[in-house]
Amino acid sequence: MKTINIAIDGPAGAGKSSVAREVASQLGFVYVDTGALYRAIALFSADYPTTKAFLDDLEVSCHLELKYFAGTQCIFLNGDNVTDKIRTPEISMKASEVSALPKVREFLLETQKDIAKEYNVIMDGRDIGTVVLPDADLKIYLTASAEERASRRYLELEDKPDAPSYEQLLEEIQQRDYNDIHRAVSPLHRAKDAVIIDTTNMGFHEVCEEILNLAEKRLELE
Ligand code: C5P
Repeated sequence: MKTINIAIDGPAGAGKSSVAREVASQLGFVYVDTGALYRAIALFSADYPTTKAFLDDLEVSCHLELKYFAGTQCIFLNGDNVTDKIRTPEISMKASEVSALPKVREFLLETQKDIAKEYNVIMDGRDIGTVVLPDADLKIYLTASAEERASRRYLELEDKPDAPSYEQLLEEIQQRDYNDIHRAVSPLHRAKDAVIIDTTNMGFHEVCEEILNLAEKRLELE
């Protein structure tokens, strides 16, 4: 059976994951957060003294599994549920670094393609519409100004202990944008046939509604 695939790409903090999760739940699709795969590899790499040592061991020793509990994606690294552990600013930066390594991207490519062959998915990331699922049925490029993205992150985190400042978050977002856009392999850019949605002045529900409308028009959903 042919599956239906929706690709959502865009820079860090544009709201891809919350929007994709909601739209997937409304459509009854599986939501795949590919950033979690890169983050888990970043965590895996932390145990190695050099990049070479980690890359040499990647294929043999890094076993990643995505599991779904009531529609929520959890990621397992060598049998450990690392879903929460990978959500730190250090892992965000490290994921941005390891994701530029061709061997890492190659390692994850088939995993991502296989999930999309098996299930109707909404997959979010940086290269989904361009590299992972170039034949996706609908492609969205979700973006917002760096200031707006940093400010959203700031509001999410401000009550937590050791919450970073707005300036720190803005710097981190700008650095990750730079890394994602300028890497040699699978850089972040909009697929030619992707619909751009700039969410700078849009609310969460408005964005979900727009994607659901596009899905209804473009896909033959029953
Ligand atoms: O989406 P998230 O911010 O969790 O992704 C973490 C990092 O993984 C990103 O900064 C990006 O460098 C990388 N990534 C990628 N390609 C993807 C998904 C994430 O390069 N498809």
